[in-house]
Amino acid sequence: MSTPTRREFAYVDWVLRPDRDDDAAPTTYTFRCLTLGDDDTECAAKSPTGKDPGEPQRWAFDHMRQHPEHTSYAEVIERPWVMWLGGPTRSAERGERRMRCCDEVGRPPLDEVLRQLRNAGEDPAELPLCELRTAVCELEAEHGGTHAGYLCEIDPRTQLWVRWQGDSHEFVRLAPCEAPADSSDDVCHLFTGHAPGHSWEMAETSCD
Ligand SMILES: [Zn+2]
Ligand SMILES: [Zn+2]
Ligand SMILES: [Zn+2]
Repeated sequence: MSTPTRREFAYVDWVLRPDRDDDAAPTTYTFRCLTLGDDDTECAAKSPTGKDPGEPQRWAFDHMRQHPEHTSYAEVIERPWVMWLGGPTRSAERGERRMRCCDEVGRPPLDEVLRQLRNAGEDPAELPLCELRTAVCELEAEHGGTHAGYLCEIDPRTQLWVRWQGDSHEFVRLAPCEAPADSSDDVCHLFTGHAPGHSWEMAETSCD
């Protein structure tokens, strides 16, 4: 079980992510006509593939001009992804922050946010307006259930969070998670019982 080979494999740490390098293949866009003909087969006419997402949309209009009944289309996006090998050095440097943050933006009613903050003993005047108007979900990208954004600390054991799904919002008082990170002195800044993925497991670029 503990042969050197196995140990080496345990460190191998591939991460799959969109390739945004300058020399990466471009993201390309194609439209395909989905309209079914009399024999129930797809028209399948395709636009040229290009880097400009508007181009295939113009093609769709041309196509409909020739075939006025063809009104269903699919946009086919080809986006380059790459496997990154993050060895022990890279993981340690990044504090093993590999997960992505949800980052979904919610818009709880401003007057309600102000009222909740004041009830929690916070002075909303000290907070930037953009932070009051929008909540950003801090959970891991694949989480289920409601989105959740932190509003403020009420006392060391209680935080005010807003949770939302579509247009419905609720303000909740939750205890902090504070699970310690494995490789730094970070503690999780989410709430107890959050969906999997502690804050220190997320990529630094998104959540901060
Ligand atoms: Zn067609
Ligand atoms: Zn979310
Ligand atoms: Zn946590």
